[in-house]
Amino acid sequence: MTTTIIMEPDIQQKLAILGAEAEVEVTAVPETQQIQRGIQHPTGFIYNAKQEGGGTARLFKVLQTNACRYACRYCFTSCAIRRKRTTFKPDELATTFISLNQRGRVDGLFLSSGIVPDANTTMEQMIATVERLRLKEGYTGYIHLKLIPGASFEYIERAVELADRVSLNLEAPNAERLATLAPEKEFAGSMWGRMAWAAALIRRARTGADHDTPIRARSLTTQFVVGPAGESDRELLATVARAHCELNLRRAYFSAFSPIERTPFADLPAEDPARELRLYQADFMLRDYGFAADELPFDVDGFLPRDRTPKQAWAERHLVEPVEINRAPRRMLLRVPGIGPKSADRIIALRRDTRLRDLAQLRKLGVTIAWAAPYLLLDGRAAPGQTRLWW
Ligand code: SF4
Repeated sequence: MTTTIIMEPDIQQKLAILGAEAEVEVTAVPETQQIQRGIQHPTGFIYNAKQEGGGTARLFKVLQTNACRYACRYCFTSCAIRRKRTTFKPDELATTFISLNQRGRVDGLFLSSGIVPDANTTMEQMIATVERLRLKEGYTGYIHLKLIPGASFEYIERAVELADRVSLNLEAPNAERLATLAPEKEFAGSMWGRMAWAAALIRRARTGADHDTPIRARSLTTQFVVGPAGESDRELLATVARAHCELNLRRAYFSAFSPIERTPFADLPAEDPARELRLYQADFMLRDYGFAADELPFDVDGFLPRDRTPKQAWAERHLVEPVEINRAPRRMLLRVPGIGPKSADRIIALRRDTRLRDLAQLRKLGVTIAWAAPYLLLDGRAAPGQTRLWW
C-alpha cells in the first residue's frame, strides 16, 4: 500500500484537505444531539456545538494529518486508499487557528488525526499544537483533543492537562466487532485502557486531588460506527453503560454507517438513521433517567424498536399502574414517556405549593402531554379526554 505525501502545500490547501476529512468524522447526527450539521468553510470545517451551559460554539474541526498507517475498513483516511496526504506542522496549525479565532470566525478547536508513523509520534504532534496555543499564543478557549489508541501514559496525561475535553473512538462495542471494522486495532488495552487512564486523571481533578500540573479536562467521550460490524443495540448499549459506570463517560456518539467509495465496505448498505436516533434515546435513559442496560426494551435479537422511542416501548411493557403526578418519586416520574429530567424537577418544585390537577399545568412545565397523559393520574383522576389504559 502506498501513501502519497505532499510535502509543502500552502496552508489553504492543507486546510481544504484536512478540514474536509475532519468533516467525515461528524456524520449523520440527529437534531436531538449536541452537534449540529456543520458548514464547509473555505478554510476548513466549522460546526456548531451546543455548550453544556447553554448556547452554541463554532468549533473548528481539523486533522493534524490525513496520513494513517491503519486500514480501518470503513474509513476514508485508511492507508489502503491511494490519495493525497498532507500534514500540519504544529506551529502552522496553531497560528492558523489563532488567526481564525482572533477574526471571530471560530470559538474552539476540535483536533483529531490519522495515525502515522505510530501513536506516540502522532500524539506528540497534536500536543505540540495545543501547547503552542496554550503556552505561546495564550489561548484559553475550548479545545477538544482526540486521544490516539495505544499512546503512552505521558501523552494521555499531557492531553488531559491541556484540553477541555478528550475523546477516544471505540468504534465497536467489543474486541470481536472491532476485528471486523479495524483488524489492526486492539480493544482492551490500547483503546479502553487509554480511556481508563484519562478517566482516572479526570476523576482526580474533579475530586481536587493533587497533580503536578493541574488537569484541565473535565469530560471524556467516545464514538461508535453503527451497522457494518453486525453488532446489536444490546452490545452497543452494554458497552456504553459500562463506560458510564467505569469511565464516567460524558457522552457516547453513534454514527450510522454510510459507505464510502473505495473502502472495503463501499458495497455495504447504509445503516438506518432511525437506529442511530433510538440508540441516542436509549443512552439518555441510561445516563439521565436511571435505567439499567438490562431494562432496555430489546427484542429477542437485541435490537430496540424503531417505530417508537425506547422509553415508550419500555412503558408499554412495564408501566402497569398509573403514576400519580402529585406523589410519584422523581425516579418514577422519569419513567413516564414525555417527562424528562427538567420537567420532573419542575413538577417536584411546583407540587410543593400546589396540587397538579390538569394537563395544561404539565404542558407549561415542559411535559409532552400526548406521550405522558395515558400513564398519569392527576390528583387521583385521569385527565379528561386522555386515552385510558387503566379503566
Ligand atoms: S486509525 Fe482512524 S484515521 Fe486511521 S484508518 Fe482507522 S479510523 Fe481512519
